[in-house]
Amino acid sequence: MTERLYDNGELTEFDAKVISCDSTAKGCEVVLDRSAFFPEGGGQAGDSGHLDKVRVTDTYERNGEVIHLCIEALEVVQSVHGCIDADIRRRRMQNHSGEHLLMGFIHSKYGFDNVGFHLGQSDVTIDLNGVLTPEQLRECEQLANEAIARNVPFTISYPDSNELTAMEYRSKLDMTENVRIVTIEGIDKCACCAPHVSTAGQIGIVKVISQENYKGGIRVHILCGLDALDIIRQRMDSVSEISKLLSAKPELTADAVNKLLTENTSLKKQLSDMDKLRAAEMISSLKNDSRESFCIFADGISNINLREIANKAVTLTDGMASVFSKKDNGYSYIIASEKLPLRTLVKDINKALDGRGGGSDSMVQGTVLADREVIEKYFKEHN
Ligand SMILES: [Zn+2]
Repeated sequence: MTERLYDNGELTEFDAKVISCDSTAKGCEVVLDRSAFFPEGGGQAGDSGHLDKVRVTDTYERNGEVIHLCIEALEVVQSVHGCIDADIRRRRMQNHSGEHLLMGFIHSKYGFDNVGFHLGQSDVTIDLNGVLTPEQLRECEQLANEAIARNVPFTISYPDSNELTAMEYRSKLDMTENVRIVTIEGIDKCACCAPHVSTAGQIGIVKVISQENYKGGIRVHILCGLDALDIIRQRMDSVSEISKLLSAKPELTADAVNKLLTENTSLKKQLSDMDKLRAAEMISSLKNDSRESFCIFADGISNINLREIANKAVTLTDGMASVFSKKDNGYSYIIASEKLPLRTLVKDINKALDGRGGGSDSMVQGTVLADREVIEKYFKEHN
């Protein structure tokens, strides 16, 4: 059995003997006599790093042994220097220990448990089997950060079965032997196999990012330590940018955006009223004594009102009533007819006017790239 050195989460370098090295399809599985590499467990991924110069891409457990997955073989007699990717380990420890700290307060104040922990890269989630309001969650976040400020100690212990029976602790599994207890002094006891910080100060900060309803409880997204710093920077940069764009103080950007949205709604309403009015004016001025096909340009009018114009125009012709409106580098169109088979005719129209679109025999719509003269000429010739 590999002697495990990760009870001290700060230990990221060590020396060991190579016990075995087996070549497999995914790489070389190396077993050492002792290791500070953490094999995945408790929601935390296995460590990566180096054994001498050989890259360790993952660490996992099999039959009590810690397996180091290496990209090259190591000689069995060799003594190696192990070196864990310290930044990755630190960030995972901060997030994981921060979760224990926050859960300690959530559990003692509200009695809820973390029933689904995910510790991913830049996303850490806790699934609670109960609902907390954002205010209650913020209160627990505050308590966790005050414990960080007091630099409360974390300790690891392996109580025997009698001690364990007498102890109150949080646990996901019903284990009675070799239970490893992570204690946050005066706050929490939790059975967990992963490396943790030795004092709360090393976590730096516990930040709740968001919460959502999930399976009758809530899913809480948190980030701690350096990962929290990264996301806080990212979001503050975004707020600064919005603040500059709106010439508003950073703390007043929400008010400024709200004002902008209200203005936007009112402008949209004005535009829509004007659109309706213009369409109504066009409809009332429509005339077509010859009842030949005709072609109307209604630039700037919305599709919904183009349809209204076409609906009126079609009653004034025995041919096609076509309505065009300028759009990007061409025109959008609606063509209506009471007598002609538009579904067939639209193919020729699209071909002649460099367009695309279709519909029914009584109405087709689409876009064309041809310019106004070409469109007008086409409908003169096809009346
Ligand atoms: Zn844990």
